Amino acid sequence: MNKRIESIREILAVNKLDGLMITKEQNWRYLSGFTGSSAVLILTANDNYLITDFRYLEQAAAEAGGFQVIKPQALVEAAVVDLVSRLGLKRIGFEDDNLTYRTYKTFKEKLSGVELVPAHRQLEPLRWVKDLQETEAISKAAGIADAAFDYILDFIKPGVRESEIALEIDYYMRRKGAEKSAFDIIVASGSRAALPHGVASDKELQPGEFIVLDFGAVYTGYHSDMTRTVILGKPDAKQREIYRLVLQAQERAIAVLKPGVKCSEVDLAARDLISVEGYGANFGHGLGHSVGLEIHEKPSLAPRDDTVLEAGMVLTVEPGVYLSGWGGVRIEDLVLVTPGGCEILSKSPKQLIELQT
Ligand code: ZN
Ligand code: ZN
Repeated sequence: MNKRIESIREILAVNKLDGLMITKEQNWRYLSGFTGSSAVLILTANDNYLITDFRYLEQAAAEAGGFQVIKPQALVEAAVVDLVSRLGLKRIGFEDDNLTYRTYKTFKEKLSGVELVPAHRQLEPLRWVKDLQETEAISKAAGIADAAFDYILDFIKPGVRESEIALEIDYYMRRKGAEKSAFDIIVASGSRAALPHGVASDKELQPGEFIVLDFGAVYTGYHSDMTRTVILGKPDAKQREIYRLVLQAQERAIAVLKPGVKCSEVDLAARDLISVEGYGANFGHGLGHSVGLEIHEKPSLAPRDDTVLEAGMVLTVEPGVYLSGWGGVRIEDLVLVTPGGCEILSKSPKQLIELQT
């Protein structure tokens, strides 16, 4: 039995559940290996079931080793009800962060006498610590993004639209083996760089502007995420100052990031420095987030997240300073927590790159 299924059996035992129902795509992929877009898993103390519709029966049988694939007579939901009744399960954990209210109501009605127990909080930590196969996939995705950053610098010129830069990054990453972009690519130039989530627009790049490039690749289901801020031309004194501050804050956070440290402490290491220099109010988001089968996972490097870091976690470290009307700087690396500290998976240079106008 693999470790992932073993953890499920532990959750069942500790919470006195007869079964767990998995409806979230990333979790059914994680537990069964099935990559199709429709499934429900039912896991009990002894057996693993995967219910999917006719489009995926063959694929599920091939991918989900150790699972009995069940073909519904009609709807997947009805097949879940049948299976739960047939197995006589009385207390079932479900993903309360995922199941729609309508589906929940259907199960409540059709499964009278069955207790549905919210289990999101128990399930969430399963994917926090990545195994070797996962970290290799994430590293590969980070490598594709690094190559794209190196490639895109030649395209960044006055008059080019942000959207053209984003398109070129996306096309390059796919050519290099990415399944897709990890999220809508952010290319935010000039005053738009003050928007932490400034998805590429049709604005043209101008000399003297900061350009925030935030993107990542997906490789075998795993995401990467990185940000670099470059300048078109020469930076002025203020641009130099803000860039130096953000980079220092980022490096300071990476220096304290290791097993045993709380997420909030890493956030504080960067936030303190930015606050001391007077820009605390201009760093309005958390320092980072975990990354894996989803682009934003828990735990987060944020003031209120006291999760203790463990080797094998993969997180971003991405401080930023944003000044409305002026612009902004963000520098983001993806790091793997190692027994002795952390390894930076994004390898692109972090000194300010001045591009020719
Ligand atoms: Zn990012
Ligand atoms: Zn990020």
